[in-house]
Amino acid sequence: MMTAAFFLDRDGTINEDTGYVSHPDELMIYPWTAEAIRLINESGAKAIIITNQSGIARGFYSEETLVEIHDRLKEELGREGAFLDGIYYCPHHPRIGDRRYRIVCECRKPAMGLLNQAVADHKIEIDRSWVIGDKASDIRMAAQAGVRAALVLTGYGSETIARRDLWPCAPEIVSENLLLAVRLILTRG
Ligand SMILES: [Mg+2]
Ligand SMILES: [Zn+2]
Repeated sequence: MMTAAFFLDRDGTINEDTGYVSHPDELMIYPWTAEAIRLINESGAKAIIITNQSGIARGFYSEETLVEIHDRLKEELGREGAFLDGIYYCPHHPRIGDRRYRIVCECRKPAMGLLNQAVADHKIEIDRSWVIGDKASDIRMAAQAGVRAALVLTGYGSETIARRDLWPCAPEIVSENLLLAVRLILTRG
């Protein structure tokens, strides 16, 4: 059976974008995030994170540490009855950092590699799915993939909307934060 999905950006959408979250203790999840993800869970849609983590290429933290950060995220969400169906990350950067990670890849947003992988892994119906994020790269990935998009004003969202003339396309929804975006999308049907 095919299912809808919410492809969620991480930094600036789910948790505060503090630069590069390099340790589980630096993860500051927004107070409304668990409720937003719980609503997604209850709707039957998949909640899937798609995140650029070039901090790995830059040598700020390892993939092992990223796993620990995501374990903390899942644990804190779980305490409030919310769960993620998947977390997909890009550790690369096209120009910076360690040789292993310094490549022009298919997975760094706005490229669609991670989204395509998630769609295949979870049998997702693109037409019923949404991308929610705070940067133009989130909106551009959505547009390329033919997925509807919501911009949140947390994180870099206010800067993103101030430079909207630079976007190739506009998001369908602009919301104060993740919870309001999810509520709006779910009530619209
Ligand atoms: Mg972000
Ligand atoms: Zn990548």
